[in-house]
Amino acid sequence: MARAPGHTPDVAADLAAASPSAIGILSVDLAALQRNYRKLSQIAAPAECAAVVKADAYGLGLSRVAPALAAAGCWTFFVATLAEAKELANILLGLDLYVLDGLFPGTAPEFAAIDARPVLGSMEEIIEWAGSGAGFAAPLPAAVHIDTGMNRLGVKPDDYAALIVAGDMLEAFPTDLLMSHLACAETPEHPKNAEQLAAFLEITDKLPQIPRSLANSAGIFLGQDYAFDLVRPGVALYGGNPFVNLANPMEPVIRLYGRIAQLGEAERGETIGYGAARTLTRRTRYATIATGYADGYFRGLGSTDAQDGAIALLGDHPVPILGRVSMDLIVFDVTDAPVDMAQRGGLIELIGERFTIDDAAAVAGTIPYEVLTSLGPRYQRIYSGFENGDEA
Ligand SMILES: *Cc1c(COP(=O)(O)O)cnc(C)c1O
Repeated sequence: MARAPGHTPDVAADLAAASPSAIGILSVDLAALQRNYRKLSQIAAPAECAAVVKADAYGLGLSRVAPALAAAGCWTFFVATLAEAKELANILLGLDLYVLDGLFPGTAPEFAAIDARPVLGSMEEIIEWAGSGAGFAAPLPAAVHIDTGMNRLGVKPDDYAALIVAGDMLEAFPTDLLMSHLACAETPEHPKNAEQLAAFLEITDKLPQIPRSLANSAGIFLGQDYAFDLVRPGVALYGGNPFVNLANPMEPVIRLYGRIAQLGEAERGETIGYGAARTLTRRTRYATIATGYADGYFRGLGSTDAQDGAIALLGDHPVPILGRVSMDLIVFDVTDAPVDMAQRGGLIELIGERFTIDDAAAVAGTIPYEVLTSLGPRYQRIYSGFENGDEA
């Protein structure tokens, strides 16, 4: 995978910062995150580039990720829930903050208290937000989500068109963003992209004064027609491939390590782990590490006699997984690594530049989003590349 010039991942620094009691390490490179943000901003310009930081910044830690993004020039943030908005409002001041899941009944005052804006996604939500304005000092702005074909969240275009004609409801509060969400952006040639674009243009052209937003990470790469005034990347910021079948244009942001709890040897013909799923084809040195599926290392990454699984790294040496992933343990074949490299207490690189979050997703039959957001709380989290207050 291509790296930005002059930036090599500092694996040695990760290992030096690791606490000896940690079962594993999740290292987050905030400088790589900032470079990804700037790259997406440049592609989307002149549109503004926001950041989607829902689910604790895709599992990487909102309190560290959000200030790094703000220092890189980001001032509009999207979270999924009101609770996440409250957390972010405590971390950063003066940002534009939107809640994607919209307005739950009776929660308008809580939005007002932290100056967060719901992305209103139904007529009921619009009516409630418009009606709640009387309780506030001034009518508060909100975004409106128009459903252009995803059928998940959003006001139907016909309903919104009727609202535009009737007027009063929309005059009760300022709509500061009209947005929609693409269902198939990760597959650029999918005809649904153009259909959603056309539907979005048809309804939003009726309100040309209101800023518009359509593109997620993959949508940014569909071209300027999709950029409008604001783009909303998530996974690409964190190094995930926004595409299904194209090379990843982003830089990796995380490295993940597991601690070697024990080393052992077994003979050809013996089996490893639950279900005796993998039979050894040679005398094997193995390393058992103290992380497992409870830490978000998917069970689908294991190997059987019929199928190879994930590859990890011991130093620079590829070490294949042996057998099933247990809840708190995983076994790797270290036979081909130099004997002195595999040490009790040492760290095996589970995810990094060589075996990426995209590779892990492919082997486990999922998407990089799920790999990132499943990384559990038992990893020691190490952040590099940006301290709060640094110049970006
Ligand atoms: C999660 C989300 C995004 C970000 O999507 P990525 O594919 O991670 O870039 C953007 N917009 C909406 C509405 C979302 O729910």
